[in-house]
Amino acid sequence: MNLSEITALLSGADDEWLFAEAGRVRRLVFGRDVYMRGIVEFSNHCINSCLYCGLRRSNSRVQRYRMDPPEILRAADLAGRLGMGSVVLQSGDDFYYAGPSIARVIREIKRSQDVAITLSLGDRTEDDLRLWKACGADRYLLKIETFNQKYFERLRPGCRITDRFRRIEVLRNLGYEVGSGVITGLPGATPDLMASDIIRLTALNLDMIAVGPFVPHPDTPLATEPAGDTMHALRCLAILRITNPYANMPAVSALASVNRDARAQALQCGANVLMPSLTPEDVRRHYSIYPGKNSDPLITAERITLCKKMIEAAGYFPSAAKGFSPRRYHGQNTARNETGHYDPGTQERR
Ligand code: SAH
Repeated sequence: MNLSEITALLSGADDEWLFAEAGRVRRLVFGRDVYMRGIVEFSNHCINSCLYCGLRRSNSRVQRYRMDPPEILRAADLAGRLGMGSVVLQSGDDFYYAGPSIARVIREIKRSQDVAITLSLGDRTEDDLRLWKACGADRYLLKIETFNQKYFERLRPGCRITDRFRRIEVLRNLGYEVGSGVITGLPGATPDLMASDIIRLTALNLDMIAVGPFVPHPDTPLATEPAGDTMHALRCLAILRITNPYANMPAVSALASVNRDARAQALQCGANVLMPSLTPEDVRRHYSIYPGKNSDPLITAERITLCKKMIEAAGYFPSAAKGFSPRRYHGQNTARNETGHYDPGTQERR
């Protein structure tokens, strides 16, 4: 798809075709499976001050917490018990945890459970990333947020977009499955900017792509800006599914913050992953990246049950598979078999 076709689809020119085609591609590659990944948000401390994020260093209204390694392991342990094949460890950019201390957590999770591990710990050093890979980490998520350099550097003061790109390459070379993505509907983002972000994300040949709408947080400089439109976020997701048939794509929680039903809609138009929180009840609500994040009062087991029901109600199956990216079996995301159809290839079974 070229820039003008994507811009037209983003404006709603052909939603019926777009959502049906994205759903078709998704089912051809992943069947009706939805991979469940349990996410442990183990620290909300952050050295950065991203304008959009509620955990930014300069927000003094957040109650900060850090889980110690035994607490992280107890939370991660729920993944296997509650029918999930992956654990995601996420935090603010928090260097209180030295590389070797995270490495021990990774090793222990791998020793005690048969799960894949995804890390989402921000801009860590190459040495840390190498160590964690050697200890068994499988995947790393590092969102580019926006591909426009000026905009990126305004939204993430003190950070350089070239460093973010370089780190994505480092992760790939270390053998991680690599994920990235953008926030849709950020204040001032034009349709052209979004369309070009979709083309550039696709060119990165990612194993995982996360897109979700901007949700304004009251304690950030973007507090009074409007939230990203859900329909627009779903169109981005659907286009990316068509241009990246083999990427794992979550129905992110930001969608649910803007519109309660949007995550179920996301499953229909391209998403094949759900990431329920395993973070303990006493700290979970403080992982307040945006309003509505982790705000339900449920205990973890109840939340997982609810997620599974939502998946089934949408006509899909909750899957406990590790759910590696099938892109690995196919090379490029755009690979097709000789009949011209997407080839689901060798898939793990549920
Ligand atoms: N500190 C790590 C991990 C953070 S992951 C890192 O920066 O990589 C948190 C993700 O939440 C971010 O990548 C961003 O895409 C998303 N996010 C943060 N604030 C948001 C907001 N206000 N609305 C929507 N998404 C937001």
